[in-house]
Amino acid sequence: MTGAAPGSPAPGGDAAPGLRPSRPRLGVVADDYTGAVDVAATLREAGARVELHLGVPPPDRAWRGGDVAVVGLKTRSVEAGAAAGRSAAAAGWLLGVGASQLFQKYSSTFDSTDAGNIGPVADALCAEVRRRGGSEPAVVLFCPAVPRYGRTVYQGHLFVGDRLVSEAAGDHPLTPRTDADLVRRLARQTRVSVGLLPHQALTGGAEGARATLERLAASGVRYVVADAVDDADLAVLGEVARAHPLVTGAAGLATALLAGVLPGPAAPATSAVHRGHRSGAPPGEHLPAEHLPAEHLSAEYPPPDLPGALLAGSCTAETLEQVRRFEARWPVLRFRPSEVAAGRDVLAEARRLAADHLGGGPVGVVASAPPDVVRTEQQALGRDRAAELVERTLGEVAEALVALGVRRLVTAGGETSGAVVERCRITHGTVGAAEAPGVAWLRVGDVVPAEGAPAEATPEDGTLWVLLKSGPLGDADVLVRALAPAA
Ligand code: ADP
Repeated sequence: MTGAAPGSPAPGGDAAPGLRPSRPRLGVVADDYTGAVDVAATLREAGARVELHLGVPPPDRAWRGGDVAVVGLKTRSVEAGAAAGRSAAAAGWLLGVGASQLFQKYSSTFDSTDAGNIGPVADALCAEVRRRGGSEPAVVLFCPAVPRYGRTVYQGHLFVGDRLVSEAAGDHPLTPRTDADLVRRLARQTRVSVGLLPHQALTGGAEGARATLERLAASGVRYVVADAVDDADLAVLGEVARAHPLVTGAAGLATALLAGVLPGPAAPATSAVHRGHRSGAPPGEHLPAEHLPAEHLSAEYPPPDLPGALLAGSCTAETLEQVRRFEARWPVLRFRPSEVAAGRDVLAEARRLAADHLGGGPVGVVASAPPDVVRTEQQALGRDRAAELVERTLGEVAEALVALGVRRLVTAGGETSGAVVERCRITHGTVGAAEAPGVAWLRVGDVVPAEGAPAEATPEDGTLWVLLKSGPLGDADVLVRALAPAA
């Protein structure tokens, strides 16, 4: 599945000349695949034309045109040196195709451990900018705020809704969020001096913020955690950071950076392209044609008659509820990593489930579990081994289900999505319409039927659609909506 989506322009090929800028304004390096989809979908909603790559693009892969190139990596939870190396390679490709500015995308809950990887990746991206002849970034902003998801930063502390992230979302199997103080957290991850751009410095607009940044830089601070409690604050930061070679954060700041540079929102006001909010209009109708590459206009959503499957490994409260609603309608196979370690053959069970039920609707294979179960599993197996067993199993199951004819593949969880995408060798796709804010379909290349797959299981249209859902994103019915079969 490494080819371009059918109907999309050949690499470096037939993009309409003159309609696309000669180089991406922004090159985004995202630390997981669902984060990459989130930022790609959000920027698309804001009017940007976005190209999405999963994994470091090979050096000879050309840029196909658009305002933004996003490279999604699976570096959030790997060893810091590996994360830094892969991120630098992705940045090298982005700078090589002419990206004017780099954006390091991490989660809006600042997911990382004390060993990294947000700090080490920022260090590596700074070095890559320098290596490519750019000037050393004087200051680098860090702001994960996404007010529309309830993520805000005040006095350097990260909030989820009205609570500190450490209280609201402290439990995570791989990156526990036990400290809400971002200055302190980032300082543990880098040797660069870290400071704060406090909210009161934003009230004077961009000029006031720049003056504070200059003072911080003069005192030796180079990494600056920035407060932002609403979109107006992000707009100030976006204006300030527009001239910075490297900016870091989540979808909120990335969008603010492009405000005023793009032709305008993709749709009047915020009538988003996500169908959770669609008001009976046909898919794609919200988007003015001139803002989208031609391939976006034809096929926004996967046809509902395509066989669908859910693979869930996220343990967020949001995903647990979404899975519960899915399970109330369609069959779900649940497993725990300790069962896999003990020899349970989840792959064979998943194949049987698909063979028995795929004709009547979607099926699900789910490891997601509440915190007490995850803790027990981790105590028994170790945190990394538990995660590895879950991810390997879900990757293998995804590959088998695609071979059995699944053409709508929905994953829940960043690490989980990474495992599935790698196992299914999905390298890039066209960003389609979104089921919910930040949760967009990707249309990837033609699927070659696996050897031994029953002929009737392989639809004539071999296009695979994938929806990589970040754990906390989406309303309670997003999975049901995404996989609902034809009425
Ligand atoms: P999210 O960050 O949205 O919760 P991820 O997929 O990024 O989703 O992370 C969830 C992690 O939890 C994965 O590494 C996954 O393998 C692991 N995991 C999932 N289910 C279990 C389980 N039942 N026991 C232990 N670990 C689990």
